[in-house]
Amino acid sequence: MSDRNAMLDVAGLRKSFGSLEVLRGIDLSVAPQELVFVIGPSGSGKSTLLRCCNRLEEPDEGSIRVDGVELLDPKTDINAMRRRIGMVFQSFNLYPHMTVLSNVTLALRKALGKGRAEAREIGEAALARVGLADKVDAYPAQLSGGQQQRAAIARAVALEPKIMLFDEPTSALDPELVGSVLAVMRELREAGMTMVVVSHEMRFARDAADRVVFMDHGAIVEQGPPEQVFGAPEHARTRSFLADFA
Ligand code: ADP
Ligand code: MG
Repeated sequence: MSDRNAMLDVAGLRKSFGSLEVLRGIDLSVAPQELVFVIGPSGSGKSTLLRCCNRLEEPDEGSIRVDGVELLDPKTDINAMRRRIGMVFQSFNLYPHMTVLSNVTLALRKALGKGRAEAREIGEAALARVGLADKVDAYPAQLSGGQQQRAAIARAVALEPKIMLFDEPTSALDPELVGSVLAVMRELREAGMTMVVVSHEMRFARDAADRVVFMDHGAIVEQGPPEQVFGAPEHARTRSFLADFA
């Protein structure tokens, strides 16, 4: 059932690549300020699901509403919507030839049409929020992976998204750098950001997620509060997946 009050409401979402069915009818509603954590084996369709949610992939069928606006409606201004759907990837995708601050202000200036001074002010505030106040004039290569990922989060947050989608944001990081990125995500959650997080950081899920969704073969197999999905998974497939993380 579609939920009119949801910040993100995915219904009957299907996507194939050629003959490969990657999403086989996904229904997922995310309430405002909810943190939904998505787990599942490699190839289960997690990234494709997130990519459909800002139409980096074109779904074949279904509905995706963000704050009540249907993304698949041809009348929807998809570029305007994309500015409001923050996406953070495993690879940070910062421009290497631009300072950290310029990376953040570029989107503010180009996408939101902010003037130089205002963009700078918003950008500096976003970078301060992720603990990078002293790195505004640094170049990405001068930052650790964790700092680069926090800069990428600041770039998304600066646009004041309605929802943030994270695709394995800490998977490319050395273990000692993961904590600083998760801390920023936790802070965002506490500030009331609506978030969908694909990740293998089960400890983070346990203490920060409202709901855990387990996907396999392009379908949601089960979902529930973390203590339920991790503590008493209903399905054998969930149990066997989780056993690998024990
Ligand atoms: P996950 O993120 O859960 O590992 P993905 O969504 O990346 O899964 O991929 C799901 C399946 O779709 C995989 O079998 C993958 O190889 C396939 N796939 C993803 N993107 C494409 C693409 N652009 N073209 C063809 N196959 C793709
Ligand atoms: Mg993936």
